[in-house]
Amino acid sequence: MLSAQTTDVNVNRVTERLFRKYRRPEDYLAVPAEELERDIYATGFFRQKARALRGTMQMLLEEFDGEVPTDLDELDRLPGVARKTANVVAAELGNPQGIVVDTHVRRLSQRLGLTRNEDPVKIERDLQRLVPRDQWGLFPHLLIWHGRRVCEARRPRCEDCAVNDLCPSSRV
Ligand code: SF4
Repeated sequence: MLSAQTTDVNVNRVTERLFRKYRRPEDYLAVPAEELERDIYATGFFRQKARALRGTMQMLLEEFDGEVPTDLDELDRLPGVARKTANVVAAELGNPQGIVVDTHVRRLSQRLGLTRNEDPVKIERDLQRLVPRDQWGLFPHLLIWHGRRVCEARRPRCEDCAVNDLCPSSRV
């Protein structure tokens, strides 16, 4: 929810303090809105994100007994939570119901010839047909790390790639 329009490094820096201060959904509602805004200021769009956070915490308390649901449709209803986030959270809670498509998953799926689509929802559908269901949680992690370490956006290191003999985009 905090990661829109900012970097992972930035989010991790902010959440280190944030998660120490706010332990339960109630904690996000117990402070004035301005205080939460200040605490997440460095992630940008802080007013919008603080509103979404408080809305989500409110809904967690009112409808889910203060616990994060693992059902994708229920997660999707939380303010500030779109399908990608819902997929990530459901998978991390041990109940993957879809495949996370972020910028790495999208690029790698296209380069590896797993999809010809551009739209993340269609890419996810293509991947769901190819990847065994019990791997839906793990699969995006594999692509994301491969994308960060080897198949970089600007300069894929095909010469060092373990799947270069299978990849239709290989340059070696
Ligand atoms: S062979 Fe090259 S383009 Fe294909 S996955 Fe590996 S690094 Fe990426």
